[in-house]
Amino acid sequence: MAENTKQKVKGRFAPTPSGRMHLGNLMCALLAWLSAKSQGGSMVLRIEDLDRERSLEKYRTLLIEDLDWLGLSFEEGPGENGPCAPYDQSRRYPIYEQDYRRLLPRIYPCFCSRAALHAASAPHLSDGRVLYSGVCRTLTEQQRKERMRLRAPAYRIAVEDTVIGFTDGVQGWYQASLAQECGDFIVRRADGVLAYQLAVVLDDARMGITQVVRGRDLLSSTPQQIWLYQLLGFSVPEFYHIPLLTDPEGKRLSKRDLDLDLGILRQTYRPQQLTGMLGYLCGQLPMPQPITPAELAQRFDWAKVPRQDIALPRSLLSDLSKL
Ligand code: GLU
Repeated sequence: MAENTKQKVKGRFAPTPSGRMHLGNLMCALLAWLSAKSQGGSMVLRIEDLDRERSLEKYRTLLIEDLDWLGLSFEEGPGENGPCAPYDQSRRYPIYEQDYRRLLPRIYPCFCSRAALHAASAPHLSDGRVLYSGVCRTLTEQQRKERMRLRAPAYRIAVEDTVIGFTDGVQGWYQASLAQECGDFIVRRADGVLAYQLAVVLDDARMGITQVVRGRDLLSSTPQQIWLYQLLGFSVPEFYHIPLLTDPEGKRLSKRDLDLDLGILRQTYRPQQLTGMLGYLCGQLPMPQPITPAELAQRFDWAKVPRQDIALPRSLLSDLSKL
């Protein structure tokens, strides 16, 4: 339990409703929930539906149902439920505007096409992203006006030449040079949609989130997000980047792997069995055994969560194939 002197823990689960949740998404929700609850904290359910084309109402409904089915309750969100409402990103634009304006002195329009960005000469980073050269940073007002007539620009923020490091609760120390490993990044897309990198910071800060639990694939985004927190004068939450679930061959699960989505899992397992399975995979139980999330929270220990990705046992998949 958190000591009285400490700030109360507030965690969150922030899914994008672009498909039915799979086991990996559920593991993330469960770990975030267990972490907050084991420290006497509360949980927010935020729907990350900024990308209206990818986000579907039916998946929003299903993910709320699936979380409820497992036994995960949220003190705040989704929709209008709570003091920081709305909890659906697509409805938070008026809230984003005030902070966006504070960043304007560093924001500039970028007219580069996708092809230009991926030109062979562009430096590629270890994770496959391209380091932006900064060409549009130095355009004159006149050049900007002319280009504006031809295409709608995306908007980038000019980063500082600084190294941002932090201690992740699972992965340990991580650092990156913003100028060399991140570059000026997009904060608003050409279609007007606020970029994930900015929205996630504004939401976590304005919702008072103190700990962020999410997939290890987002570890490399965290330095730029921490820099945004600092730039805006927000306090930085704790981060826990959890391992990803893979198939027995080590291939990462995706929402396209329909065989492990909650629709199928719910036909085979009871919620307590699935919680026990996830508890086992995350090092919290010596073997899979039926348990509720509330019971698991009483023995939850971050030190037991593995750092490396977790390959699903073949036995789990064969249980499902008997359907
Ligand atoms: N919305 C993101 C996703 O569904 C998660 C972002 C985050 O947790 O920061 O992958």
